[in-house]
Amino acid sequence: YGDYNQKIDYVFKVVLIGDSAVGKTQLLARFARNAFNVDSKATIGVEFQTKTLIIDNKTVKAQIWDTAGQERYRAVTSAYYRGAVGAMLVYDMTKRQSFDHMARWLEELRGHADKNIVIMLIGNKCDLASLRAVPTEDAEEFAQRENLFFMETSALESTNVETCFLTILTEIYKING
Ligand code: GDP
Repeated sequence: YGDYNQKIDYVFKVVLIGDSAVGKTQLLARFARNAFNVDSKATIGVEFQTKTLIIDNKTVKAQIWDTAGQERYRAVTSAYYRGAVGAMLVYDMTKRQSFDHMARWLEELRGHADKNIVIMLIGNKCDLASLRAVPTEDAEEFAQRENLFFMETSALESTNVETCFLTILTEIYKING
């Protein structure tokens, strides 16, 4: 009912990481604003977006950080990871290399983040099924070995986007709530 004085019980910082062009910005746009920009890359300067949701009768404000293109220059700084309670490790399922780089991103994340951080592996662009270069089983195996949650998404078609954010936020709530 347009309750602008809504009390926020928790603020959870979640960071998006992964190679350039895997769809991080579009996943965030889809989740936070239910939007998808065909002509993306207006990211520079935007650091995070928020969305408030109810989990277990508590008001949770998700503060989702985007790298804003820094990853292209390998310039993701420790400030980016600071205070994060969740991380989404995104690859493009049509680009094998973006998946092969996940181990490196995970290592960097684990070197910077809190040890209780909840991590979700995300194979984005599942709408491009005929171009798939990463079998689901490969990602599942990696996720299992590294103790990550895993989901395949399409920011373009909205597939699993809401579900993956809700899943990670619920898991974060179980630990930090
Ligand atoms: P970022 O660099 O990781 O933030 O990637 P962007 O969100 O800017 O997306 C890179 C490119 O992939 C853009 O051309 C997007 O339109 C496209 N893209 C992002 N998500 C999807 C998706 O789910 N499906 C398809 N087909 N294209 C996508």
